[in-house]
Amino acid sequence: MKDLTHFVNGQHVAGGSGRFADVYNPALGEVQSRVPLASKAEVDAAIAAAAEAQPKWAATNPQRRARVLMEFVRLLNRDMQNLAEALSAEHGKTVPDAKGDVQRGLEVIEFCIGAPHLLKGEFSDSAGPGIDMYSMRQPLGVVAGITPFNFPAMIPMWKLGPALACGNAFILKPSERAPTVPLMLAALLQEAGLPDGVLQVVNGDKEAVDAILDNPEIQAIGFVGSTPIAQYIYGRGCSNGKRVQCFGGAKNHMIVMPDADMDQAADALVGAGYGAAGERCMAISVAVPVGEETADRLIEKLLPRIEKLKVGPYTAGPDVDYGPVVTAEAKARVLGLIDKGVAEGAELVLDGRNFSLQGYEKGFFVGPTLFDRVTTDMEIYRTEIFGPVLSTVRAKTYEEALGYAMDHEYGNGTAIFTRDGDTARDFASRINIGMVGINVPIPVPLAYHTFGGWKKSGFGDLNQHGPDAFRFYTRTKTVTSRWPSGMKEGGEFHFKQMD
Ligand code: NAD
Repeated sequence: MKDLTHFVNGQHVAGGSGRFADVYNPALGEVQSRVPLASKAEVDAAIAAAAEAQPKWAATNPQRRARVLMEFVRLLNRDMQNLAEALSAEHGKTVPDAKGDVQRGLEVIEFCIGAPHLLKGEFSDSAGPGIDMYSMRQPLGVVAGITPFNFPAMIPMWKLGPALACGNAFILKPSERAPTVPLMLAALLQEAGLPDGVLQVVNGDKEAVDAILDNPEIQAIGFVGSTPIAQYIYGRGCSNGKRVQCFGGAKNHMIVMPDADMDQAADALVGAGYGAAGERCMAISVAVPVGEETADRLIEKLLPRIEKLKVGPYTAGPDVDYGPVVTAEAKARVLGLIDKGVAEGAELVLDGRNFSLQGYEKGFFVGPTLFDRVTTDMEIYRTEIFGPVLSTVRAKTYEEALGYAMDHEYGNGTAIFTRDGDTARDFASRINIGMVGINVPIPVPLAYHTFGGWKKSGFGDLNQHGPDAFRFYTRTKTVTSRWPSGMKEGGEFHFKQMD
């Protein structure tokens, strides 16, 4: 069996801790490799080497840094197919979906190529007599990213792109469930001209994360993953004096108004609810039709569409709609939550629990599942399921539907489907959720806007990518200068313009 590595100082380095985690092919349900779990000493050594490499990278002018990223984009396009297949083999998502994962990360790198413009400071000429004042954005030093399994290409690139463009060295701790693509990204960045040591990939679990959280050299941490871990990392990182932003879980509601185009709404729900087996932080997991008649029409439209979904391995070709969930534990958790929903009295319209695929009996597949008449006290409503399960909560009025989304503890994304401009505008203005779609089910902002949830979906200041990322990965210094020619001889301060 293949043992994966770390990527330190431009080299693929074997793990030295003696600890490994199995990495599965979720479609086959078989272990395909082992990933080393770094010890604290290994993480500390990688950070120390990054700290040595960082000053030279910071002193490299921003255009040159941007050129490395430009070449990286070319290499990502060159290797798109390989990256996507490696990603699908560990994550289970379809190859077109995996290409989307790489593509959305690539777009963030394209945005970062504009770093010279984004890093420009501000200048106030003659802020006082003979006095100029200017501010500059400087890199923080060594920063880290801790990322989840569900976007093994995109989310590391959300973090490393802006961090490197700003002149930082970057420590990436990817998910131990999908570590291959992050290692491939590091090798491509090296090929693109990134100096050794500026990007280090350390694989690992809690021990590696804690080493990052406690290392005094680390100036900032960007985390994406589940909410309990986000809260833990935010608390420990902040108490160690670091700049920390953590993005957590989600329960995204889509409100369907009676005037919505019901075919469009049903198509949107199927894509947003079941795509990538529901393992997206922006997946729609709750449909909220307003009015009994709307709910009945929606279910009637949804059911045949969901029944037609083709579930299978990524190797089965372009007709597959979604693949397995990531691990046996993830599958058991999703099935357990479906059982719970039934026990709590939700109406199971479509049951995906007994799904089986010939030749892939050991794979971690879950069939598409649809619940109706879910209520807000049920666990399937309160918990992020992160599987191909859509819950329908019927609301009597728009206000009631809005209230459900507002009162949920998560606030990552949401959507409303309506033809009424007033309702759409009211929704966008009042909702307490970070990303809002109007007749758009998965409103993921493009790379030049920022991405971030509210409430228990996001902790800390500033969002990911877009201009916020350049603020997060730099600190501002403000210089006030007065030139000697503005002073009278003899050391006494005197301002020409005041004479
Ligand atoms: P996870 O929280 O299990 O893991 C995320 C990272 O934290 C991994 O690198 C993992 O190794 C590390 N980690 C896990 N347990 C840890 C512990 N006890 N101590 C320290 N570090 C630990 O998340 P996941 O299952 O990989 O990803 C799915 C979650 O990520 C979902 O909740 C999803 O909504 C969320 N997510 C959020 C966003 C967003 O932008 N808000 C984007 C993608 C995914």
